[in-house]
Amino acid sequence: MADEVRCAVFGQGIYCRALVEFTNHCDNNCRYCGIRKGNVDLARYRLSDQEILDACATAYALGLRTFVLQGGEDAWYTDARLIPLIATLHERFPQAAITLSLGERSPQSYENLYAAGARRYLLRHETANPEHYRMLHPERQSFWHRMHCLYALRATGYQVGCGMMVGSPGQSWEHLADDMAFLQEFRPEMLGIGPFLPHHATPFSACPPGSAQLTLFLLSLARIMLPKVLLPATTALRTLLPQGLTQGVAAGCNVVMPSIPTAGYELYDGKAAVRDLPQVLRRMEEELALSGCALISARGDYGADNAAGENQRMQNACKPRG
Ligand code: SAM
Repeated sequence: MADEVRCAVFGQGIYCRALVEFTNHCDNNCRYCGIRKGNVDLARYRLSDQEILDACATAYALGLRTFVLQGGEDAWYTDARLIPLIATLHERFPQAAITLSLGERSPQSYENLYAAGARRYLLRHETANPEHYRMLHPERQSFWHRMHCLYALRATGYQVGCGMMVGSPGQSWEHLADDMAFLQEFRPEMLGIGPFLPHHATPFSACPPGSAQLTLFLLSLARIMLPKVLLPATTALRTLLPQGLTQGVAAGCNVVMPSIPTAGYELYDGKAAVRDLPQVLRRMEEELALSGCALISARGDYGADNAAGENQRMQNACKPRG
């Protein structure tokens, strides 16, 4: 049923976002996450502005029209550092959408980054149950502050993405029901639902991964409940499940977010390092063709008319160059 809903709302086009994981420094200590501050063995990096611009230019040349700038919660990235970067991207690529995923910041900061040209923000709620939130995060991270941030982002005018991991340690059926009730109330424009995958250097290293089947089931419920939501087949799902892309699409997903090559953004064990983006896109095209779907070159804003002529297939852009 979710597949039918996806098809009725979006046709056979799958939006493709360029994920630029530009810093793995993080001031937080989320118990599940491999880039947590407490992981002292991880080699840390920050891309330079030029490297970020180059990554976006590469993605743009291949037909991608959304740049997702994601990183740990890295206080080095003050507004003063981010605003010129976002403004330059906005000016250089006026047809592309800029999505941020930088964690919790002040309402004023969210406004400043919006004014610079960012229009979408991904901030997973992680769990809609305050007690479960406390199990997953140290005391200084508060469920209520996260909620406050999500509503501040909405009030600023962003298209907002939230989401949760499936099978995170301590998660019960009631917690998942709380998540679905929260999604129904918040009605996010974007939604990230992926399985929890353990990372060896975290307190949850010995916990089992979340279930791929349950993740697919929840994705399909989300598609039926929120027909227009932008729903990625997440990297975590594709890491756990070899057919994660096609199965995700069959469960209602209509977005993929390939990472632009960077090493060291290790949220969980087994995350594949991306070397050759054109090849990754070609592989995705081949897999999607099996489901009768294709990557399309469009910004893919929430509520955009998918039948519009702007949604050209990306296939040509993905052919080998030279
Ligand atoms: N710092 C930003 C934030 O907190 O929103 C963005 C980066 S954060 C690493 C992105 C997402 O990765 C988190 O919201 C979390 O759901 C997911 N994640 C982290 N560790 C994970 C794990 N071990 N398994 C699956 N997903 C994980």
